[in-house]
Amino acid sequence: MSQSEPPAEPPVAGRPVVLRGGTVLTMGDASTVLPDADVLVVGDRLAAVGSGLDVPEGTREIDARGGIVMPGMIDTHRHMWQTAMRGYGADWTLTQYFVWYYLEHGKHFRPQDIAAGNRLSAIESLDAGVTTTVDWSHGLQSVEHAEAAVEALRSVPGRFVLAYGNIQAGPWEWTADPAVRALLERLRDGGDDLMGVQIAFDVTGDPSFPERAAFEAARELGIPVTTHAGVWAATNDDGIRLMHEHGFMTPETIYVHAATLTADSYQRIAATGGSISVATESECSAGQGHAPTAQVLQYGIPVSLSMDTSVWWSGDMFSAMRATLNADRMAEHMDAHLKGDTITHLRLRAQRVVEWATRGGAAALGRDDIGSLQAGKRADVVLIKNDRSPVSFPLLNPYGHVAFQAQRADVHTVLVNGRVVKFAHELVGIDLAPVRTEIEDTLDHLRSTLGEEVWAHGMFPELPSAEAEVLDNPYRYSDYKDQSKRAGGEERVLGR
Ligand SMILES: [Zn+2]
Repeated sequence: MSQSEPPAEPPVAGRPVVLRGGTVLTMGDASTVLPDADVLVVGDRLAAVGSGLDVPEGTREIDARGGIVMPGMIDTHRHMWQTAMRGYGADWTLTQYFVWYYLEHGKHFRPQDIAAGNRLSAIESLDAGVTTTVDWSHGLQSVEHAEAAVEALRSVPGRFVLAYGNIQAGPWEWTADPAVRALLERLRDGGDDLMGVQIAFDVTGDPSFPERAAFEAARELGIPVTTHAGVWAATNDDGIRLMHEHGFMTPETIYVHAATLTADSYQRIAATGGSISVATESECSAGQGHAPTAQVLQYGIPVSLSMDTSVWWSGDMFSAMRATLNADRMAEHMDAHLKGDTITHLRLRAQRVVEWATRGGAAALGRDDIGSLQAGKRADVVLIKNDRSPVSFPLLNPYGHVAFQAQRADVHTVLVNGRVVKFAHELVGIDLAPVRTEIEDTLDHLRSTLGEEVWAHGMFPELPSAEAEVLDNPYRYSDYKDQSKRAGGEERVLGR
């Protein structure tokens, strides 16, 4: 489309769509790059991928020339409810995050506040080409909160997984609640391809392993567990060991961060087939530990990428890919420099992080029908193309372009399950005005409940007085004290 033409109308729902003449990254087993290729979508499926495709009569053509066509991106860990406080915690550490949400103010979120954050976050995903998002929803203090979370996700035409959690109570408590179980069963049995379910809780390392009952509930229900593992000063090797010794490490398990762990834990993860969700921007800024990219390569652990929470960072996988490459390369160079060596060949390539952001997420979620562009798969497709941008050409290294050059404003078209949800850089059928009103209501509620002084102080916190209680264990539900985190305790070995 030249700049003088009026903006084109979005494709009509239900009609076939073909993206013509783009550079297609299939992200299949062979990770093929197809120059000047077409992607045909019929119904909710990819009907064909190749050059000069014949298409059914009435197919809407989208000009993809000069652009990159790739699978929809997948975020395997985002606390979507916290998007209602976008950017509030920009200068937080993980400790300040724990104090704010876990210990002090997370309990003030009403069901409608969970819904407000979820809806905005879900829309943000589509805008950025993230077609599948795992809602690591650990603010579900009641089933009403969970119903609100689900309603909000269903109101946005993306693919989501509700990872049910509740930081205000022990996971052995809420997983025993018949009402919670009924909701989990409903999501599991719903047959809704756009809504999956996981159970989300952390393992503190308490030797009495109180989380055991929650793992047993997950196993009974046949629902995968996602857990923050290897988070400095919160979860560590003890949690991994307890999970392993009791037989709860499975191929479906997702270990979020998995940063501050020893070789023994990475071996247990690799041996049991689970995957690690790397949230590099979070790990760099909050302090869970260095993103474990060296270890996942070393031990052959499957990887997906995630954004964690928009209380710091926006829900944007371009940022995730870029941060992950940068952090790995910084570590590789620094480790070499400390030994007087020079890195001449990088171990982590741009292609790899694009894989992690697409098919890696699909594999982590046990979905072989998304994450790549191959005939027969679900049609979750992103076109990156911005003819007005000087950053859009030349297009020489397509993986490098996605990871280091592109950004959300370059996302031209997005399809989820064959439905066009963004076209010509505009979201289709989504009105932000009521979403803005809903967010404002949540902020009014929080500010009036907390008071302006507490609200302002929370955004610009002073350094915490070293309260041992907070630093030892952010979870209210256990009195367990981890001696390894105290002065004079056992020397810790960093993950890298
Ligand atoms: Zn998290």
